[in-house]
Amino acid sequence: MNRDSLRQLENHDAFLERHIGPNDAEIAHMLRIVGHDSLDALTDAIVPAGIKSTAPLALPAPVTEVEALAKIRAVASKNKIFRSFIGQGYHGTHTPNVILRNILENPAWYTAYTPYQAEISQGRMEALINFQTLCADLTGMEIANASLLDEGTAAAEAMTLAKRSGKSKSNLFAVSAGVHPQTLEVLRTRAEPMGIELAVLPDAELAGADAFGVLLQYPDTFGHANDYRALAEAVHARGGLVCVATDLLALTLLVPPGEWGADIVVGNTQRFGVPFGFGGPHAAFMACRDAFKRSMPGRLIGVSIDAEGQPAYRLTLQTREQHIRREKATSNICTAQVLLAVMAAMYAVYHGPDGLRRIAARTHRLASLLAAALRKADVNVGGDFFDTLHITGVDADAVHARAVAAGINLRRIDGRSLGISLDETSTREDVVALAALFGARIEDIDALDAATTDALPAGLVRQSKYLQHPVFNTHHSEHELLRYMRSLADKDLAMDRTMIPLGSCTMKLNATAEMIPITWPEFANIHPLAPADQAAGYRELVDTLEAMLVECTGYDAVSLQPNSGAQGEYAGLLAIRAYHRSRGEGHRDVCLIPDSAHGTNPASAQMCGMTVVVTKTDANGNVDVEDLRRAAEQYSDRLAALMITYPSTHGVFEEDIVEICEIVHKHGGQVYTDGANMNALVGVAKPGKWGSDVSHLNLHKTFCIPHGGGGPGVGPCAVKSHLAPFLPKTFGGEGDVGMVSAASFGSASILPISWMYIVMMGAEGLRKATQVALLNANYIAKRLAPHYKTLYTGRNGLVAHECILDLRPLKDATGISAEDVAKRLIDFGFHAPTLSFPVAGTLMVEPTESESMHELDRFIDAMIQIREEIRAVEEGKLDREDNPLRNAPHTATAVSASEWTHAYPRELAAFPLASLRRQKYWPPVARVDNVYGDKNVMCACIPVDAYKEPAEA
Ligand SMILES: *Cc1c(COP(=O)(O)O)cnc(C)c1O
Repeated sequence: MNRDSLRQLENHDAFLERHIGPNDAEIAHMLRIVGHDSLDALTDAIVPAGIKSTAPLALPAPVTEVEALAKIRAVASKNKIFRSFIGQGYHGTHTPNVILRNILENPAWYTAYTPYQAEISQGRMEALINFQTLCADLTGMEIANASLLDEGTAAAEAMTLAKRSGKSKSNLFAVSAGVHPQTLEVLRTRAEPMGIELAVLPDAELAGADAFGVLLQYPDTFGHANDYRALAEAVHARGGLVCVATDLLALTLLVPPGEWGADIVVGNTQRFGVPFGFGGPHAAFMACRDAFKRSMPGRLIGVSIDAEGQPAYRLTLQTREQHIRREKATSNICTAQVLLAVMAAMYAVYHGPDGLRRIAARTHRLASLLAAALRKADVNVGGDFFDTLHITGVDADAVHARAVAAGINLRRIDGRSLGISLDETSTREDVVALAALFGARIEDIDALDAATTDALPAGLVRQSKYLQHPVFNTHHSEHELLRYMRSLADKDLAMDRTMIPLGSCTMKLNATAEMIPITWPEFANIHPLAPADQAAGYRELVDTLEAMLVECTGYDAVSLQPNSGAQGEYAGLLAIRAYHRSRGEGHRDVCLIPDSAHGTNPASAQMCGMTVVVTKTDANGNVDVEDLRRAAEQYSDRLAALMITYPSTHGVFEEDIVEICEIVHKHGGQVYTDGANMNALVGVAKPGKWGSDVSHLNLHKTFCIPHGGGGPGVGPCAVKSHLAPFLPKTFGGEGDVGMVSAASFGSASILPISWMYIVMMGAEGLRKATQVALLNANYIAKRLAPHYKTLYTGRNGLVAHECILDLRPLKDATGISAEDVAKRLIDFGFHAPTLSFPVAGTLMVEPTESESMHELDRFIDAMIQIREEIRAVEEGKLDREDNPLRNAPHTATAVSASEWTHAYPRELAAFPLASLRRQKYWPPVARVDNVYGDKNVMCACIPVDAYKEPAEA
């Protein structure tokens, strides 16, 4: 009898068949269309022979989801979960289960893209404007942004904002000795290359410092809530600005910095329902005076109006990021922490102002009871605290050892002092156990409660109201919140509904099995400063992931600390800078960057104090090698680095990459390869082997961490051995280059996603993924060739993993723009490709390997239909102004209105393809007015009466 072998039967269990969209028959069909016999033949035709890997990746064979989950379970179980009272900016919190399941574990939220396409992003932008309102209200400031990477980098952004916005000519930034130590580490790293002088001073000396800005921590790292009113006045009197790092939960009870003179306020929203995760990801924020809004870093969600006159959200003051102005950039923040900001905002929506105040008050009460019990036992406890006790005059090591034996972590400040932070998760039993560590007994905690007063400083008790908007006062029952979150998700297009074919951003499958481990307590509930032996699982996760990334890239060492791609660029350039200095070549400061580069490249270079020199692109979209050679020669003495993206953002594999590396090396420079396009390379070619010295990777692109609507991200920095000593140091560790993020391993808790991906795919799966990514892009380019011109192609007329469709000739002929096409795609239920990057007037399409042939065809059909509509405009069959492209997207309100005044039928507006009658996405708003939003900047929750009745519209 004929039968399949066990091996054959089991092969089909491999995860890679689920990750890769097209099946073998479809791959064969698509190969025929692009004109090649096999994936290997196609790869050979695209990838220059000089860089192709000859050996397969030295990684294990693919495994099933079940096997991979068992493996990572074993890793996770090496982490030990203790009760944490360490504090220092990270606190225990209960993630409301309704938020855990319906936001963090819900692909409608975690697979969304950054809201550049406003009409299909109204839901997440509402969540983010709630976040902004939360941060502005609680800090008492006029405006807040929609998340930064962590408190340390947010403080660094505050420092540079103060430098460019203040009036002082000083070059000194004075930091309070009460600032969290990890924040100080990041500030040190950031200040030095920018030539900012940093002084750490006791609070009493800050007023006397002639500084352009000061940074205070409120309450400070030891827990004291100090009254800084007089200090703020003194700083202002000298022309300096007051920056404050703060804790939003404390501000429900304390007078907010905005009421005592702060100019810029930063902090972390982690304790609003986001687990420790060994240091990240969590959403930090920046709030500031209205006067600074135009120079604020990060994304700002604002309110504008749509074509029907209704309020609508959009990114304000920026179509992309306003602060990434290439050479004139003031920050390189791109990917931020959107998903975590959404969680924190929902936490506030769920609890409301009263609930938050109750959580804060209970935490404070527990801290007060512990302080009272300790003082009774003659333990020295500092006063004026919110949730953190500063205990001095004890044998810190002895207490610490007793605590660890009891499964408790405290903060050891020095040999004689400790910190104990209480939080939402703390219990009566915890307080009793903590007291016992110091020999204090609590017999009757209710009696103690009755006899103990609060410890908040009298002059700092908050009187002002916050979170008065209905959104924070309505959704307090689980049903209400569930439906609110669902209603927002339903307004948006994420990858659970459609492909998101974003060139450069690689929106591929974020598999469920990859996501599952991140919410396991063994990964979620570990404080970043927990003793090393409790984090052995994390150590193994980090070490094994680093090793796998080394194998994929051909470099020698990797740091997982950068928490976005741009942070990885920054770390890589710092490594180059430190390397030159170590060889007595510290004068090398010129960074060559081709004009097609992503905006973060020049932004990161200028943050490192480098001078950016832009080099040209030739007619085929390649780096103009002669121009590069000329620039390298011209700046030979000063050449620090070349930053190059490979394959280029023009979607082609440059033939001359090896020669380009040689030119740069010959003139003493280092080659930085932007690894955002690694999805075209893994298993096929290795930058570390063709002459590049350093790359960042975007684990949130190539290695499957979901985009989260604009973050979180992980941007590992990978280097050759000569740069390895210059990777960022870990907290408390040694090294020439300081920390680039507040936590040693950055966004540690999402590393299991990439780990699972690599382990499940294995060497064979990763290579096939790359090959199918190339195939899918070429299939689209080929099938659309009769309708749209692909701007650049490489060898054999093929593109890499993405293709740029040139709509400029159509615009010249018909007035229909690339933006009109992007908006019309919404009527077909699609998220638009990348618009006008890297070339204005184009769409850049990157399908990834995860899209099936069916989904590619659906997209191609839509694009062909749109081309027919453009043709109809060309031929005069559709009006040049009043046509479905210019008026897209069409809302249900518009299509169902009693009066239809357009020069084309309603059916064409709503159902341009018959298949849409069965399944239709209705955009919640019509086209959003960009100009109105920038003229009338409004960045807080929309007042309820702003919505007009349709009759008035
Ligand atoms: C996405 C991207 C970046 C920036 O990465 P972030 O994680 O958003 O900071 C840099 N370069 C290129 C080419 C990119 O596509």
